[in-house]
Amino acid sequence: MRRRGWIVPVAAFILAVIALFSVYAFVFPGRREPLAGSPYTLIIQPNVSTESVDLAKRGLLIANDYLIKRLGRTITTPIDVRLSGFTPCTPFEPIPQLAATGYADARRLCINTRSRVWKSAAANPWIPLALVAHEHFHVLQSQMGCLPPRARKEYAWLTEGSAVYVGWRTVIEADEVSAERAEELFNRLLTSRGALPRLTTYEREIEGDAAYTLAYNAFQILIARGGLSSYMDFCTRVASGENWRAAFAQAFGLTVDQFYAAFESSRR
Ligand SMILES: [Zn+2]
Repeated sequence: MRRRGWIVPVAAFILAVIALFSVYAFVFPGRREPLAGSPYTLIIQPNVSTESVDLAKRGLLIANDYLIKRLGRTITTPIDVRLSGFTPCTPFEPIPQLAATGYADARRLCINTRSRVWKSAAANPWIPLALVAHEHFHVLQSQMGCLPPRARKEYAWLTEGSAVYVGWRTVIEADEVSAERAEELFNRLLTSRGALPRLTTYEREIEGDAAYTLAYNAFQILIARGGLSSYMDFCTRVASGENWRAAFAQAFGLTVDQFYAAFESSRR
């Protein structure tokens, strides 16, 4: 009978820890604030600053403007825009200080306001604005069906290169930064990791600022002829089940291997 004396409190303690962890990992507590005249509802965690909220709102508005101007369409379905301050954007991630910069799927996007990129807002507000536009574009990709889950990635550099492109073009065209200043940053990011491997090595996975900038450069060259709409054509094709290499050749007018060869010779 004595045993019961400690089993109950220990079990209660374990249950409490599990419950707390579940809230931390799976729930995104925060106050909801709809962004007037848009399909976005911000979910703001208590330790996120007013400046961060304003920055996120501005990012969403210019991201919308850019897509409407360049593609004649934007996101029209209700989207939750999570501003993370103390719980991670996705379950099983570490604390926000160590977690990914952002996340997006067809119904929500999330910005980690504790990330290094977001903190660069103090000196360069255009960098986090580009991040919002980047994640916002991932929502559109996801809704179109060309944002494959992690395990099924085949053209990762193209997915990220296009989102980086949309992010930077959004802030440049909104006059948040000059093209020259942005170019300086790209060159710095590109060389920050020394010599990078061939673009083809980034089909399954791509990580880090340097590789993202390489993908951005490739994307810019790829759409020089057909513009952003040639990429949207690629998206529509892969979403309908076409093999990505066949979709690439149809949308961009050259094969993946032809493009890799031309791109690698332009890097020398
Ligand atoms: Zn991305």
